[in-house]
Amino acid sequence: MKAFALLLASAAALVAAPPALSAQAAPQADTVDPSVPTQLPRTAVPHHYALTVTPHADRLTFDGDVAIDLDVVKPTPTLVLNAADLSFASATLSRAGAGAAITGRVTVDDAAETATIAFPSTLAPGSYRLRLIYSGKINTQANGLFALDYKNKEGADARSLFTQFEAADARRFVPSWDEPDYKASWDLTARVPANQMAVSNLPAASTRAIGDGLKEVRFQTSPTMSSYLLFFASGDFDRVTKPSAGREVGIVVSRGNGTKAHYALDAEAQILPYYNDYFGTPFPLPKLDNVAGPGQSQFFGAMENWGAIFTFEYALLDDPAITTEGQRQQIYSTEAHEMAHQWFGDLVTMAWWDDLWLNEGFASWMENKTTQHFHPEWQAEVDRVGSREAAMGLDALNSTHPVVQSVRTVEQANQAFDSIAYQKGESVIGMLEHFAGPDVWRDGIRRYIRAHAYQNSRTTDLWAAQEAAGARGITVVATDFTTQPGIPLVTAGSAQCAGGATVVTLTQGQFSADRQQQAAANPLSWHVPIEATAGGPVAKVLTSGQTTQLTVPGCGPLMINPGQYGYYRTLYTPQQSAALAGQLPGLSPVDQFGLISNAMALSLAGYQPMQTGLDFLAAMPPNGSAKVVQRTVGRWDDLYDLMDSDPTAQAAIASRVVKAYGPRLQQLGFTPRPGEPAVDAVLRPTLIGQLGKYRDPAVLAEASRLFAAWKSDPNAIPGSLKSTWLGVIATNADAATWDAIRERARATTGTIERTSLYQLLGRAHDEALGRRALDLALTDEPGKTTSAGIITAVAAQHPRMAIDFVLAHLAQVNRLIDISGRSRFMQRLAGSSRDPELIPVLESYAQANLAESDRKPIQQTVDRIRSESAQAQRIRSETAAWLAAHRQSGGAAPAGRPERG
Ligand SMILES: [Zn+2]
Repeated sequence: MKAFALLLASAAALVAAPPALSAQAAPQADTVDPSVPTQLPRTAVPHHYALTVTPHADRLTFDGDVAIDLDVVKPTPTLVLNAADLSFASATLSRAGAGAAITGRVTVDDAAETATIAFPSTLAPGSYRLRLIYSGKINTQANGLFALDYKNKEGADARSLFTQFEAADARRFVPSWDEPDYKASWDLTARVPANQMAVSNLPAASTRAIGDGLKEVRFQTSPTMSSYLLFFASGDFDRVTKPSAGREVGIVVSRGNGTKAHYALDAEAQILPYYNDYFGTPFPLPKLDNVAGPGQSQFFGAMENWGAIFTFEYALLDDPAITTEGQRQQIYSTEAHEMAHQWFGDLVTMAWWDDLWLNEGFASWMENKTTQHFHPEWQAEVDRVGSREAAMGLDALNSTHPVVQSVRTVEQANQAFDSIAYQKGESVIGMLEHFAGPDVWRDGIRRYIRAHAYQNSRTTDLWAAQEAAGARGITVVATDFTTQPGIPLVTAGSAQCAGGATVVTLTQGQFSADRQQQAAANPLSWHVPIEATAGGPVAKVLTSGQTTQLTVPGCGPLMINPGQYGYYRTLYTPQQSAALAGQLPGLSPVDQFGLISNAMALSLAGYQPMQTGLDFLAAMPPNGSAKVVQRTVGRWDDLYDLMDSDPTAQAAIASRVVKAYGPRLQQLGFTPRPGEPAVDAVLRPTLIGQLGKYRDPAVLAEASRLFAAWKSDPNAIPGSLKSTWLGVIATNADAATWDAIRERARATTGTIERTSLYQLLGRAHDEALGRRALDLALTDEPGKTTSAGIITAVAAQHPRMAIDFVLAHLAQVNRLIDISGRSRFMQRLAGSSRDPELIPVLESYAQANLAESDRKPIQQTVDRIRSESAQAQRIRSETAAWLAAHRQSGGAAPAGRPERG
């Protein structure tokens, strides 16, 4: 699964109460691992499902008929399986090859999301077929079987159906043993309108007309797989295809959108053979589709259903009317991510959600590796550091959790999809690959996939495969970083130059954003693979214990973690920092961004003065790597927002950014140039947006000119910059401007553009317009999956107002969010706030709406606000002092040299 925004907190009004656990049941003769925590009694194991569904899209209901071949593994009078929001008409059980079917009585437990089928007598162990006739609901958010409404090519209302099951929503589609280690094969049959296309994991085996304008599509039998990977869609679709590596790859789109799919189709065809080779096991299914859905979710952007990936249109289709170069690159990386899951997740599946990182950390790492491989010009190695920083943002808080986490409820499974599973997982894997060496690591992956294909695995299985491949010693490092939370802090002592080498003592502790003293007094301890350079060859050492002596060839400035593969922070002496900041302009982009991020994090957390971090930030040459400049501008803007109580300091930051980066924007120009580097095409909108926010006259004038032209001609702004220029306008909008954007949103039929325009309405600085956007979100006008995005946009400007509004309309707002995303929505809304007054609001919200076990995302938000507000005064005064001392320079001066005073 892939999310673009950080996934956040939990508004769990509608979330099921935590079901009772029976992890201790420990049955014999069970093909399912008895040590896996489960919410189902381990009395039966399914092997095959034959499922027929008949959707009634107009009524938002469906009928289901499933025959489940299963083994009863211990005598039991009941069968218990998962079911949510299903109504049962009948349940019958027949013994394979003998006797008449017996009838069972079904009772459902809504809170536990189970159905219990009681039989007249105890079932003896053996093979059975369970047949259930039932009906269910078609949802309007992405859970279970759901409908997405849109305007078709002709501008008429249309509705397509899709499924979304991860983590625990297959049970809304089919009564099933809906846990990842109950793998089974599937025969899906669907009865759909004769003029529609039906899509599933496998190609259709047969199609026949069945009258009443319907057809019956029977899909080929799937290999054994987890229930959350089953997929079904039906709609007025086109499918574009290509052969690749002996398979067929395809993109499924709403009719008429085929040309927007070619970019994604080419990427899919390019990546498949690369993965076949890397994983050492060819993609096992005959086809791989990626199905585009018109809409959005607050939980995910794309989902790795085996052979039938689902992706929302905005993350899959290249629409010349609105898609930016940055989004095009995300289309590529999202496909690389979901395709990696076809092996990591689908072919080999984690036994339980505790090991979710095996899916998400790997897919994230592979996504970046693949992007770097095929598109080195995008400088995705800088994004690798971005992932590390996103992970550390959460991992520095007391309420973080280990990569291998504890998941005991459905809601905790939903919450497990966070930056620790994704970005820390990715970062730790990157570190381990570097430790093992890429060839050994790849060999370990091939062994792991081969050993666990069509089965389930755990984190320890991966380390065993890596050790077997020759990555000796990896288990101790991997175990430290995946079973313990937090971030190592490596403190460098004063370095001595002796015999042409730098000798330095490293002291290991723990980095913390919100409890430095406790972490210093009682730090966790890791085996950290450390690398360092002093201008010559890289020296390596594996720490064990508190202090480590390191000898580095050369006597230049000491840089620890060159290449930025290590997952740790480094605290340098002031002299070392000054020397490194002085060197920054000549370093590689990945080290530039790594050092800036490291220094800023230490300064913000109070390990060193803000001056040190700011010296690094100011050392980034404005004409340097476009990718790093883009990130650097973002860092300045974070500071700008943080200084919101100090207009003088804000003005100083704005003028510094405009002076430093205005010339870069001039150089790039306001419009895309044919054949320009892709990183320039991504930097341009960042600079336009930033300078627009700081009200740079040239940018505002161009925005006004374009807006006037756009009002009479929707194509007056190049598609790749449309959301950027309109974003500048929307942010500074007055009522008439806001109305004009809304009018155009209403008249636009293309789903991606329409959604994008509606979300712009949430971006106004003006509070009254923010309130109008919130009111609009509760109407039917924007569309069922668009409204939550409007509220999120308002929250970025006016977090308190948005949160108060949501709390006042909680039941209505919850209907706008998929069940799996509800619990994080509040965390997302609070994401841009540093207001301590929000803490009691969030805490009482959690108390009233979330089970105690499910409050972690809120706790993380509270911890973050608390730690940021504890540091805020110091950060503000030190930053103001630095800005005053550096007022004369535009930020363009080389770093490390005090520019003035
Ligand atoms: Zn994923």
